Amino acid sequence: MAKFYEYQGKDIFKKSGIPVPEGEVVKSPGEAKKAAEKLGRPVVVKAQVWAGGRGKSGAVKFADTPDEAEKATGEILGMEVKGLEVKQVLIEEKLDIAQEFYAGVIINSAQDVRGPVLMFSPEGGVDIESVPEDKIAMMNVDVIKGLMPYDTLNMVSSMGVKGKVLRQIADVVFKLFNAFQINDCRTLEINPLILTEDSRVIAADCRMAVDDQALFRHPEMGIKIGREFLKEPTDFDLTGWSFEETDFRGTSYVAQMAPPEEVRKGGYVGYHGIGGGAAMLGMDAMNKVGLKVADYADTSGNPTASKVYRVVKLIMSQPGIEAYFLAGFMMANQEQWHHAHGIVKALREELPKRPGFPVVILLCGNKEKESQEIVKEGLAGIDARIEIYDREHVYDAKFIGGRVKALVDEYRKERSAS
Ligand code: GDP
Ligand code: MN
Repeated sequence: MAKFYEYQGKDIFKKSGIPVPEGEVVKSPGEAKKAAEKLGRPVVVKAQVWAGGRGKSGAVKFADTPDEAEKATGEILGMEVKGLEVKQVLIEEKLDIAQEFYAGVIINSAQDVRGPVLMFSPEGGVDIESVPEDKIAMMNVDVIKGLMPYDTLNMVSSMGVKGKVLRQIADVVFKLFNAFQINDCRTLEINPLILTEDSRVIAADCRMAVDDQALFRHPEMGIKIGREFLKEPTDFDLTGWSFEETDFRGTSYVAQMAPPEEVRKGGYVGYHGIGGGAAMLGMDAMNKVGLKVADYADTSGNPTASKVYRVVKLIMSQPGIEAYFLAGFMMANQEQWHHAHGIVKALREELPKRPGFPVVILLCGNKEKESQEIVKEGLAGIDARIEIYDREHVYDAKFIGGRVKALVDEYRKERSAS
């Protein structure tokens, strides 16, 4: 799911006619001060990270003056919230709260629902999971019939909301559902939806995630990688993603695991797994012998040779890696000769640049015999430390890990001698 920051979600709210607090996103205490001056009233300073629970972790602070806003921003920037570094904060007018509500839409993929569920609760501002069931109104929306304004009026009214506020809130909930649909969301939540002392209804927070499969319809969202990705993608990550974007045959999942300057210091292998679980096994095997993975690459689901080739080329492009390791710890039911061809072509191009380079290949599964032949013949006579294993060692992580380590040690010794 592609995640969005609160301020991005609020821009979408604004376009959908949902009232949001006045404010702007900033990157430094100085900018925060200016933003607070511009607002000319007490403000809230809010960390922009892909995590909830900021209130509790001190990542939402209040400031009565521009100087206080500057100070609070200094405290919040650089903070870690659930492992994510804060690089931007949102400066917004502080609202005087009369009541906090919750409104949200999620996709329920359960067999008997398979569609959007609209939710509303008069107990907002806390984790919705902690709100008693009888305080949450839920409605499975029929996507063919669509949502009617009276649906949200009934829903909000069923929770005891009355009068003018009922109409205001029902209107926001209705617009929320439309925003959810138009933007192909998987999640769109307002928590809290605030009723102010001066009777305005305003979305004080936004949590938004968009369906990866629909991102192609939303170039305006500027999402670079349509996949669960908790960090800012690097050039390496983007190159890896381009293989997926341009070729849907099989899957290749590629992510940089260590910054290049760390990799250059030594102790890293270029890592290539086949299938998620098997790839984990190989990573463990590396860690157990004191090696680390520079990248995580997983090619699976019967990818084409060209896709595998591009992945291996990318793995080998990392300066400082001390081995290439194909961790095929599974009897894959894909046709392994596609892997074999892709690996051979990439390594034949790359290995001449690194004489004596360690290569350990474990490749098992369908068309194993043929694949082994392709790899062995294709890599014969190259000046490199190449070891190729088959099903005899399919789950033998300890042995294979030991072989990678032994070759890396030899390679280091040879290089330090020369
Ligand atoms: P979260 O904890 O990450 O979900 O961050 P929120 O944006 O929901 O903020 C946490 C809490 O701060 C909310 O539940 C509110 O109680 C409070 N809060 C947020 N904005 C305002 C505001 O403008 N005025 C006041 N008084 N409280 C606010
Ligand atoms: Mn919240």
